[in-house]
Amino acid sequence: MGIILLLFISIVGIGVSDPNIRDLFFGRGVLFNADVKIFVLDVGQGDSILIKAFDRNVLIDAGQDKALSADKIGSFGVKKLNLVIATHPHSDHIGGMFEVIKRYDPEYYLDPGIPHTSKVYKTLLDLVEKKKLKYMRPNGQTIHLQSAELYIFPLPSDVKSINNGSVVSKLSYKDFGMLFLGDAEVEEQSFLIKVNSDKLRSKVIKISHHGSNTGTNQRLLDIVLPEIAIISVGKNNSYGHPHSEVIELLKENNIKTYRTDRYGTIIILSDGFKYSVIREKGSMGERFLFFILQLIETVRVGA
Ligand SMILES: [Zn+2]
Repeated sequence: MGIILLLFISIVGIGVSDPNIRDLFFGRGVLFNADVKIFVLDVGQGDSILIKAFDRNVLIDAGQDKALSADKIGSFGVKKLNLVIATHPHSDHIGGMFEVIKRYDPEYYLDPGIPHTSKVYKTLLDLVEKKKLKYMRPNGQTIHLQSAELYIFPLPSDVKSINNGSVVSKLSYKDFGMLFLGDAEVEEQSFLIKVNSDKLRSKVIKISHHGSNTGTNQRLLDIVLPEIAIISVGKNNSYGHPHSEVIELLKENNIKTYRTDRYGTIIILSDGFKYSVIREKGSMGERFLFFILQLIETVRVGA
């Protein structure tokens, strides 16, 4: 009881002193009303994004590390995944997928379905078969997550590089939308713009290819018109990601940018109209909310 009282006093204290937190907690209440939660997990250099929409759990990529993604998913109360997506078979996206499949027993597995001969990918396909996951390929299908939808864009018919055969998807719920680009470069993006530019428009964008200059340009931003951008990238990585020209371009377009190398895991909450962002390593108030949210998510599973 004493702890609860202390928590309550802390919340009120932080809420009063930090206007953003006050808004999140008291004013707009998205923290407790979010039907859709997206966790861009800090997995170093790589991608791993958890979507919790109502009672459905989807994972897009699993980072490079063997167990990091699986551990982080668990820290947000996930006991089972409904669907896992491997955007493309590079190890910074599928390295952690083995552990994820073993621990969270997903029903469906989706990847580009383009033959690729790496040992890690072959071993992954063996596991998918052994565990009897239902195998899906991108064909412009809509996956229903109760009232939210995950649209899977079709792939170009002639994919010339692994990155340009990335599974691209968009989560939509009422007025809210978030676009996940995998490592798709300009070549694949041109195809997407040609076949379905309306669908690309999204309030939030997961920047392609860890902020590489091959994955973001003005043309794409003019179509997507994002308000905020998330970059999943490792500290001091050898590729120089994110590239400074991409950061500049986002700044010029007044798009608020959040990076996992600076702020750790980034959570986006939405009730379908409003959305809020909480950074693991943000302001004092955000750190506190991050902790509270993690607590809520783990308790909710048992309820
Ligand atoms: Zn990558």
